[in-house]
Amino acid sequence: MSKKLNLKELQFESWIEEWDWIYNYYDAAIEDEYRVDVLRKTADSIYLEPYVRYTTGYMHELADKLEFCTDEEPCKSPACKRCVRMFQIEIYRSILRSIVHELERDPDTRFCAMNIVQYSRAVDAYGFVDYDIKADKTRLGKLLFNSKVTGPVLGAFEMDFHKTPQKWLGHYHLFARLSGNEEAIARLSGKVGKLHPEHIKSNVIARPFLVQEIQDPRKQISYLYKLGFNEVRDFKTPNRKRRTKKYRLEERLFCNYLCWMYEMGLKKFLVRRKASVWLRHSNF
Ligand SMILES: [Zn+2]
Repeated sequence: MSKKLNLKELQFESWIEEWDWIYNYYDAAIEDEYRVDVLRKTADSIYLEPYVRYTTGYMHELADKLEFCTDEEPCKSPACKRCVRMFQIEIYRSILRSIVHELERDPDTRFCAMNIVQYSRAVDAYGFVDYDIKADKTRLGKLLFNSKVTGPVLGAFEMDFHKTPQKWLGHYHLFARLSGNEEAIARLSGKVGKLHPEHIKSNVIARPFLVQEIQDPRKQISYLYKLGFNEVRDFKTPNRKRRTKKYRLEERLFCNYLCWMYEMGLKKFLVRRKASVWLRHSNF
């Protein structure tokens, strides 16, 4: 028996900016300063190097964007931590309002977070720049449609770089209504399992689909729009269990990834399917 969502607790959404899982403003500003520095340093180190996707000029252009981004005139780039933070706050507020609104109508409504990992579409270290997010999102839309998932679906596309075997793994974090979608989600799980049966690492069991009922929105919806990108390394615990830990990307890869995000723009990474009703209080 699942725990009901606490309507009263959710109505205190004004606290959202103080939730500890969102970067605070100061940390985001420090992170952006770091990004400007590392972009300029890397830009100068590749000067006159042939065959680079993102040139010295392009890296400085992005560094300028981040450096001159202000609260009054935000750059709105997914490469900017402060702008991603502002976006997170706005969209989580909108999602919480929608949850509250739906619970007021039917207190038994349940929601879920889904995670889809696309092992079969892993790409090489510098191959991410050619990844076709649009086509990928179209495929995801078809999967949701064919599985008969109804109602709004919100979420985002993300990539992590796995140190071994030097591959990027694309994945989706999605949020949907669980009530009425129980069978559809079981179908979706089956389809995703067939599409991505094998992990990119040998001897590791693939887990391409994960669904969790939302019990504590403050913790669970925080994964939806991090727009994160990390290096993932494996390690073994003293009792030989396999675990992963996230690290910052190596500087040059980091700068290329930032440039790629800047080139793509924020909306490219977002998934919104029939979600207008949930986003009516936001600008997205
Ligand atoms: Zn910005």
